Amino acid sequence: MDKDIMKIAVLSGKGGTGKTLLSVNMAVVADKSIYIDCDVEEPNGHLFLKPKNISTEKVTVKIPVVDVELCNGCRKCVEFCKFNALAYIKDRLIIFDNICHSCGGCILVCPEKALTEKEKIIGEVQKGASSNVTVLSGILNIGEASGVPIIDRLLDEEPADESITIIDCPPGSACIVMESIKDADYCILVAEPTLFGAHNLSMVYELVKLFNKPNGVVLNKCEEGKNPSKDFCIKNNIKILGEIPFDIELGTLNSNGQIAARENSKYKDLFSNLLKKAAEEASNETVINP
Ligand code: SF4
Ligand code: SF4
Repeated sequence: MDKDIMKIAVLSGKGGTGKTLLSVNMAVVADKSIYIDCDVEEPNGHLFLKPKNISTEKVTVKIPVVDVELCNGCRKCVEFCKFNALAYIKDRLIIFDNICHSCGGCILVCPEKALTEKEKIIGEVQKGASSNVTVLSGILNIGEASGVPIIDRLLDEEPADESITIIDCPPGSACIVMESIKDADYCILVAEPTLFGAHNLSMVYELVKLFNKPNGVVLNKCEEGKNPSKDFCIKNNIKILGEIPFDIELGTLNSNGQIAARENSKYKDLFSNLLKKAAEEASNETVINP
C-alpha cells in the first residue's frame, strides 16, 4: 500500500448505527479525499456532502435473450440457472430479467446457440465534488437483482495522489458488503452500545476476519454505563479506535443533513482523531504485513 493512498472501508451490521455519519465526517477532515457510497440500494452520503458539478454514467449488465426459432425446448438452460431466472412454460422460454445475475452460463450450455446477450441498464454512478471531497454514489434501480456491478464500477475510480478513499459500505454482511471491502486497506466497524449492537458488530467482525482485513472499532452513541459492544471488543482483543459520544448537538446537525466537522471545531477534532488513528493502524499493518 502506498502510504499516501489509503482505502478505508466503514461497515456496520445494520443501518442507522452511524456508518455514514463517520464516513462523511472523516472524508471532509482529510486534506483531500474520495468518498464512495456503496450503499447502492439506499445511498444517502450525498444528502450531507451535497456535491456539485455532477456527472452521471449508466451501469449496464448483460442478460440473455432467446431466439425462438432456434430454441428446441431442451431446458438445459433452465436446469443450469441457479438463480431460477429461466422457466420453460407453454412451449416458450421465459427470462426473468430482474433476477438474472448475468453469469452467462445459460448461453454457454445452450446446445442450439439459441441464447445471446443484450445490455440492460441496472442503475448509475454519479460523480461530483464537495469542496475537498470527490463524491461517488451508486444507485441501483428498484427491483434489480444485484448491486455488485455498480459497486465494481464505483471502486474502479483511481485515487489521486495523496488522497484517502472512504468507502461507505452497505449495512449487513451480504455479498455486496464483501464486494465493497475487497480492496480496502483497513476496515472500521461502527457499533452501538447495546446487546443488539454487539450482535451486529460480531457479524461484521466475522466478515472482516474472513477477508483477513486489518480492522478497528468506533463505538457510537456512547454514554456512561454498560456498553456490550465495548465488552465484545475487549473480550476479542479488537482495537477500539475511539468513541463518539451520545450528543444531542451532533444528532441535530446530522438529522438536519449537516456535516458536524464542517460546522464545529470540536467535531472536526473528534473525526480528525478517528481518521488519524485509523490511518496509523492501517500503516502499522502494512509494515507488519508488507
Ligand atoms: S445469465 Fe446466469 S443468472 Fe442469468 S439467466 Fe442465464 S444462467 Fe441464469
Ligand atoms: S438450452 Fe437453448 S435450446 Fe434448450 S431450452 Fe434453453 S434456449 Fe432453448
